[in-house]
Amino acid sequence: NVVNLIVQTADRLPEKTALVFRNEPMSYQELKEKILRVANGLKSLGIREDMNVGLMLTTRPEYVLSYFALLAIGATVVPLNPQYKEKELTYALNDSESQALIYDQAVAGIVENAKNHFTTTNLLIPCYGKEDPRCEWTKLLDSEPLDELTPRISEDTAQIIYTSGTTGNPKGAMITHDNVAWMTKAMTDEQGTNEKDRVIVVLPLFHAFAKMAGIWCPLYKGATIYIEERFHPDAILEMIERERITVFSGVPTMFTLFVHSPRLKEFDYSSLRIFGSGGASIPVEIIDRIKKEIGVEMVEAYGQTEATIMITSQPVNGEKVVGSVGPPIEGVDLRIVTPDDRDVPQGEIGEIIFRGRNAMKGYYNKPEETATTIRDGWVYTGDLAYQDKNGNVFIVDRKKDMIIRGGYNVYPREIEEVLYAHSDVIECAVVGEAHEILGEEIVAYVVVKNNLQEEELSAYCREHLAKYKTPRVFRFLDSLPKTVTGKILKGPLRKKETKTI
Ligand code: ATP
Repeated sequence: NVVNLIVQTADRLPEKTALVFRNEPMSYQELKEKILRVANGLKSLGIREDMNVGLMLTTRPEYVLSYFALLAIGATVVPLNPQYKEKELTYALNDSESQALIYDQAVAGIVENAKNHFTTTNLLIPCYGKEDPRCEWTKLLDSEPLDELTPRISEDTAQIIYTSGTTGNPKGAMITHDNVAWMTKAMTDEQGTNEKDRVIVVLPLFHAFAKMAGIWCPLYKGATIYIEERFHPDAILEMIERERITVFSGVPTMFTLFVHSPRLKEFDYSSLRIFGSGGASIPVEIIDRIKKEIGVEMVEAYGQTEATIMITSQPVNGEKVVGSVGPPIEGVDLRIVTPDDRDVPQGEIGEIIFRGRNAMKGYYNKPEETATTIRDGWVYTGDLAYQDKNGNVFIVDRKKDMIIRGGYNVYPREIEEVLYAHSDVIECAVVGEAHEILGEEIVAYVVVKNNLQEEELSAYCREHLAKYKTPRVFRFLDSLPKTVTGKILKGPLRKKETKTI
């Protein structure tokens, strides 16, 4: 059982602070005891090993405790995005055949409205507002601690994580106990995680990125995590100085907001060991500005839910090739292939495929999608990239995001990089839109400041991009649609669901 990794740390460092929430510390001893109490409590409520259990909690210590407790009794966790509406929640619970759901106050209304549509989920466990009589949390914490962790074998599924669906219907990636244990070790080796680390956890915990970078890695190594419920750029920057934070991992949007904060230069960041970005491509402009303005060198990594999380990473200490996501991490094989599965010559663009102990078991109840994604033991990522002669990977774009304009392949990311380099562009997303003659036309959605006008932006693009890559249409928005993890969603832009201003 992979929870052993955390129990062993607790036995080694009982007094050490494991987590801090709203200024309240919890030691490793307390963490372990609470996990075991909640685990037994969940058992007495009827949760059994091999059950799939939805977990729809916001970013709070209760998340961490319920998550480990479920794994401890051999259940499979189905992490659910607390921003799901009725339809999305019902889809995920029914698709994963979850038999129980643990949820908090923030989502109680949604659960109430949706519950008649649940096909397998009969056991609802509300864990909200301690003063509320329906809350099960106090009862769970009052249970006797579990005697021992339910044994699991390597291939047992620990969690079924739904991809956030930036490119289609969410699919549940089955991640095994071995996947999690292996990734925890590989990632802590890669990042040099240690007892002295002080880590901010602000990414939503249902996501694979937050689970690995925010919970498993630091808690396995005896570090201290600081759980923050919301992302306020200035509060996080201030906290880095106040708590002498050593590791902050986030998605590119967070770093974009840091760069646009007028208070960026106010604080001392000398404690930072890792300022890490992943989950989507971070504009080179943002990396450069962070280096220039606060002297911090960023570490970019690349991965996906299907890979437990990490596939490649820039070295934490070694030299980083800006714009690249680094070489594959130790133990992961990576190839870049053509549509007919031949390796591309070095430097040419193809699809990234990988294999290793980080590779998911498959998609839950989706044999066809699994067979398309995993072929001969290789996971097809759907991401286009090339490699330099030293093995550094450069992500070009998602296969599905590529635009074909008049027969030319156009990679939106390249155009986005140019737009981000304009000082009045705050955010942008480039998509293809159906066009009678050209097949697709390039459309740039932008969020700007200082009243930047289309004419100026268009002239700027013409100056910096080849003609066939220059966006012909610009749409100005107040903000871009995003997933709760902060990734820009191109789907609604393509469908023009978003009103322009
Ligand atoms: P879906 O698979 O449904 O589109 P998703 O994007 O939310 O959902 P995740 O597993 O969260 O799925 O994200 C993985 C994807 O994010 C990768 O396949 C890749 O396209 C992108 N990505 C992650 N890290 C980086 C990075 N450093 N640079 C560029 N792209 C990245």
